[in-house]
Amino acid sequence: MRLLNLSDEQKQIVKIVKEFTDKEIKPYAAEWDEEERFPRPVFNKMSELGLSGLSCQEEYGGSYLDFLTKAMVFEELSKGCVAMAATLSVHTMVAYIIEKYANEEMKKKYLPRINSGEMLCSFALTEANAGSDAAALETRAESRNGGFVLNGNKIFITSAGEAELYFVMAKTDKSKGARGITSFLVEKGNPGLGFGKKEKKMGFNASITGELVLTDCVVPKDAVVGSVGEGFRYALETLDLGRVNIAAMAVGLAQAALDYALEYAKNRVQFGKPIASFQGVQFMLADMATEIEAGRGLTYNAARLMDNGAKAQEVTLAAAMAKRFTTDTAMKVTTDAVQILGGYGCMREYPVERYMRSAKILQIVEGTNQIQRIIVARQLLA
Ligand SMILES: Cc1cc2nc3c(=O)[nH]c(=O)nc-3n(C[C@H](O)[C@H](O)[C@H](O)COP(=O)(O)OP(=O)(O)OC[C@H]3O[C@@H](n4cnc5c(N)ncnc54)[C@H](O)[C@@H]3O)c2cc1C
Repeated sequence: MRLLNLSDEQKQIVKIVKEFTDKEIKPYAAEWDEEERFPRPVFNKMSELGLSGLSCQEEYGGSYLDFLTKAMVFEELSKGCVAMAATLSVHTMVAYIIEKYANEEMKKKYLPRINSGEMLCSFALTEANAGSDAAALETRAESRNGGFVLNGNKIFITSAGEAELYFVMAKTDKSKGARGITSFLVEKGNPGLGFGKKEKKMGFNASITGELVLTDCVVPKDAVVGSVGEGFRYALETLDLGRVNIAAMAVGLAQAALDYALEYAKNRVQFGKPIASFQGVQFMLADMATEIEAGRGLTYNAARLMDNGAKAQEVTLAAAMAKRFTTDTAMKVTTDAVQILGGYGCMREYPVERYMRSAKILQIVEGTNQIQRIIVARQLLA
């Protein structure tokens, strides 16, 4: 559906990303998924396009895009490979926090290398006993010899082992709960940073998911991002942004599934007619298209609220609604796409089963959809 009020620049950016996705991503996505491989050379090409720097200003080597354009970029990329889009999203979330909260020295040290794609970033919050209840994290950061010593394990971390820079949340003061959490930058190569098992996932396999093992990991005091005790607040703010990215990815993924199913339905002949002529199939297609459009509206609205400097609470609500609705929609739409392809839909030769496996993961990452409902309900009842 046509979106009103886009500038020529926004249209041009979306066009470039679409062409890139069609040429460099879409034809290879099934292969990366099968081989469970993150194609770093393709990420580097994305960086050459300016995508790794899209959340930062030019001053730090970034190629800043407003939130709406960014959402449209993530939507386009996800039509090709949602796992690649997710890796980029995490990377840009870390860049965003550094630009917003780090001191000038840290920004100058890291941002140009992050924005150029030389340093891939990873966001390490989740632990074995702290998933939805992330503030219950147990990784400790003890102040010692003017710096900090980190100990603990992080699980399910995107780009673990692949990334050059890790945004790690750890407790500097156990007695203060969420207010005792501080964020640190830990570079790959630090002798105290190890990588545990690389997970074998149901899908999303072009994005690496693994474990960080912090063992007496010594970092200087200037590895602290922003202020001591503020790490969880930064994480929550970034998750709002991440949720809008995820919503945009879900819209792109669902659109790819609909586009494929639609073409298939027009060409597949049963009972002497294309299956698209059967009303049962038409109704599925119609619902898929309508729900995708509704999700796109929620997503773009959340992005526009951010672009217009809406209050934090308003952004949190809009991001939670968009993330919940679009990812549930992607799950339904991709499942229906498999249904429309029938037996062929279950085969890896066709992309829709991969879309369905990815959609399930979108309902879980960046806060499960139950957590999104809690966020929405909390504001309704406040
Ligand atoms: C592919 C992938 C990539 C990831 N990447 C990262 C990353 O880069 N960085 C990072 O830090 N983390 C990452 N994660 C972790 C992700 O954020 C967590 O898996 C997610 O937040 C859920 O935590 P959990 O898995 O421990 O589930 P749990 O919190 O144990 O939840 C289990 C179930 O209980 C439900 N539940 C929990 N609490 C409530 C409640 N109060 N009310 C109702 N239902 C509830 C949940 O919705 C869920 O259905 C990734 C996960 C995956 C799968």
